[in-house]
Amino acid sequence: MDHDELAFELTGLLDRWAPTAAETIDLSGAASYDAAQLDVDYYFREHPGVDAATVILAGVSIGVVSRRSLARSQGTAADSNVGTGERLELTVDSTQYRLLVFVCPDCGTQDHRIFYDPRDLPRCAGHGEMALRR
Ligand SMILES: [Zn+2]
Repeated sequence: MDHDELAFELTGLLDRWAPTAAETIDLSGAASYDAAQLDVDYYFREHPGVDAATVILAGVSIGVVSRRSLARSQGTAADSNVGTGERLELTVDSTQYRLLVFVCPDCGTQDHRIFYDPRDLPRCAGHGEMALRR
């Protein structure tokens, strides 16, 4: 598994609502999602005063992992894979769940997301990035 694939899978481990963290954890050596999850678990055990850490993968920050997001990810460790994070938001963080509507400014095509990631906006097939409807 290369770092791009791992970074994609690790989104299920990240805390979308955590503020940026001063501490960092380098998961470049993790060979899989499960290995990274164990690394994070070990890290928090070794650093009892730390509640969140910025995840570094191949020298790049990919987000923040927190004790909360780790616990959430461990809830379904057995079937952790692409999309797990989204399902978990629905079941565990239901109070923060909100359906976001995105609209293509050119043709009005709509798409829906349960979280807002400015780096990964829904795209209209004909016109590119859609805009969040507020
Ligand atoms: Zn369009």
